[in-house]
Amino acid sequence: MNYSHHIRKEAQLLKKRNNKAKEKEEENNKKKMMNNHERKRYPLLCFWELPEYMKDNEYILRYYRANWPLKQALFSVFRWHNETLNVWTHLVGFVLFLGLTLANLMKPRVVDLLGLFTRSFSSSAEKNVSQNFKDLFLGTTTILFDLKQQAPMKMEPKSLGVVIAARWPFFVFLCGSMFCLLSSSICHLFSCHSHSLNLFLLRIDYVGITVMIITSFFPQIYYVFLCQPHWQLLYLAGITAMGLFTIATLLSPTLSTGKYRGFRAMLFCSMGLFGIVPAIHASIVNWGNPRRNVTLAYECTMALSYLVGTLFYVTRVPERWRPGWFDIAGHSHQIFHVLVVFGALAHYAATLKMLDWRDKFGCDNGTGMAQ
Ligand SMILES: [Zn+2]
Repeated sequence: MNYSHHIRKEAQLLKKRNNKAKEKEEENNKKKMMNNHERKRYPLLCFWELPEYMKDNEYILRYYRANWPLKQALFSVFRWHNETLNVWTHLVGFVLFLGLTLANLMKPRVVDLLGLFTRSFSSSAEKNVSQNFKDLFLGTTTILFDLKQQAPMKMEPKSLGVVIAARWPFFVFLCGSMFCLLSSSICHLFSCHSHSLNLFLLRIDYVGITVMIITSFFPQIYYVFLCQPHWQLLYLAGITAMGLFTIATLLSPTLSTGKYRGFRAMLFCSMGLFGIVPAIHASIVNWGNPRRNVTLAYECTMALSYLVGTLFYVTRVPERWRPGWFDIAGHSHQIFHVLVVFGALAHYAATLKMLDWRDKFGCDNGTGMAQ
């Protein structure tokens, strides 16, 4: 009796399990069918099937999306087409810069922890955290390291004033980079939606590049000419004016078309080349600074990355040599994107060096000579 009851129970369990497996399979099949249906409804097109406004690069032959609804365009971020890597290269760059920004925003607390060991902050450390961060951002904090209090050894009782340089130009650069990388990703993802959105997003993409170039100058000019406010103001005003002119020019719809690719590249390059003037000036001013070579090496890496990237962008190499071979991966725009992220990271490294130098030496150029 017991035995047959056990067998019946086992059989029921098996049946239940089979039913569940069947249901799962049916669900999977449904999903597959839906996907196939979606793919059939929104197939990837060849270059010659595209609407006129999307015919930009005749060397990329297949895997185009055209006139897709916003929802399909959004989910195509997980599907292979000729823009997938264009989206991801800058999306990864954006996440990277977001992480760096957050990490740097947390840093003042470390500085405050240092402050806890000094007499100057010991009274109301809790209250000081937010105030110190504000001061640090605006560059008004002076941390007093009272060496007599810190080291109980036979040290000369002496107070050394260290001025922490303002952080806002550094964050201006980080925000500019994030804006450029995110707007570029959004542009590549949604520009297949319609002609009007395509034109709008392309212009936003170009504005993003301009914002990144202008904001890249901010920390460099600010920290190098920290103790020469007239030069600081002149160069910052100059690059801002140039950037605003470029943005105004780029916002005109005609200049966003493929015909003006060369003109746009020229505008971006001239903004970049403008940087040569303050760079030479800065090198002369800091000739004796032992950190000059490291900072210059980083900045040369950045300039080279941007220049080589622009060259790829304009010449459309390598796809022009083998049309159709680099449709999904390896075409010029993807190389341009990677080089932009690489250049921005080199610039970030240079900025950190400069910030460190200003924090340590203030208006002293590191050789003991005041500027
Ligand atoms: Zn792009």
